[in-house]
Amino acid sequence: MATHSGRHFLQIPGPTNVPDQVLRAISAPTIDHRGPEFAAFTLDLLTALRPVFGTAGPVVVYPASGTGAWEAALVNTLSPEDRVLCFETGHFAALWRKMAESLGLRIDFVPGDWRHGVDPTQMAEHLRPDTAAVCVVHNETSTGVASRIPEIRQALDQAGHPALLLVDAVSSLGSVDFRHDEWGIDVTIAASQKGLMLPPGLGFTAVSAKALAANRSAGLPRSFWDWQPILDANEGGSFPYTPATNLLYGLRESLRMLDEEGLPNVWERHRRHALATRTAVHAWGLGIQCADDREHSATVTAVVLPEADKVRELILREFDMSLGVGLGRLAGQVFRIEHLGHFNDLSLAGTLSGVQMGLRLCGVPIDPAGVAAALEVLGGR
Ligand SMILES: *Cc1c(COP(=O)(O)O)cnc(C)c1O
Repeated sequence: MATHSGRHFLQIPGPTNVPDQVLRAISAPTIDHRGPEFAAFTLDLLTALRPVFGTAGPVVVYPASGTGAWEAALVNTLSPEDRVLCFETGHFAALWRKMAESLGLRIDFVPGDWRHGVDPTQMAEHLRPDTAAVCVVHNETSTGVASRIPEIRQALDQAGHPALLLVDAVSSLGSVDFRHDEWGIDVTIAASQKGLMLPPGLGFTAVSAKALAANRSAGLPRSFWDWQPILDANEGGSFPYTPATNLLYGLRESLRMLDEEGLPNVWERHRRHALATRTAVHAWGLGIQCADDREHSATVTAVVLPEADKVRELILREFDMSLGVGLGRLAGQVFRIEHLGHFNDLSLAGTLSGVQMGLRLCGVPIDPAGVAAALEVLGGR
């Protein structure tokens, strides 16, 4: 293993780079999570958390990864044998579906090619009278494809269907325009280690009034994940278990940073970086996994290349940069460039330079105009 000077480039789509301010906030002394100081902190934090989800309603915070929040969304709203509509958009959608199956739900699974998001018309065609929930991964981190949630909501409304809309926003929340209330989402699932710029360890569910009503009659067994005891405790600024106190300090700081930059500016920054990345990939003459121009992810770009693993491993060894590996069906077929979270124009310029140098060193026949084309996008604002 070669030694490297300077900073490691962590360009995987989660965990993402954690800002120094957040790390410093996390390093504060751990205090009594049942004391008055922590209660005041929690009440302020839970209020500050709502805008990033685009909700005026409650957000439940778990000491868990995103996978835990998936489970929370299902067990809090559904009953055994309930019919759930899932879509094969990529690796994460497939994992979530598998979880739903193992919890005893009946799954209608719409197959997909891992190059498209959920088609709203097709979604409506697959609704059955007894479909209890529609599960959509907003930003498929494995493919770099984003589903159009407002159009999916519209299709549900046009069908006049009462199914709950459950949305995984793990790799879009805090980076991409997202509106839990306005888009009529019933449960939004998120995690700390992507757009929220924190280490892994927090899972979130934003909960609509309709989801809370469903919670009262939902029959799936649940204990730790149960919303009601948590919401009751949250009223007074506490939790029914020991919360991840220091990660919550970090969350308060990352929310402050997002607020300071302004969420619309944060979304625009991610859009520009994704556009510059695609411009580089096209100029190199390489392919992008996302096949629909309306569905490009703003946070991650999957580059199609038979030598993907070789290039990725070489870039790590030679230039000390981690890129995302191909997941599931895409193993060995793509590498993924993250442009997500704590990131700026020069981080992207460095990232794309590293990719271009790696491609050249590996002997992949590319046009080295890629980085220059991306810089034109970045400079052309
Ligand atoms: C990362 C990710 C998850 C999984 O979250 P964990 O924190 O690894 O459990 C779920 N969905 C999407 C879209 C993700 O990107």
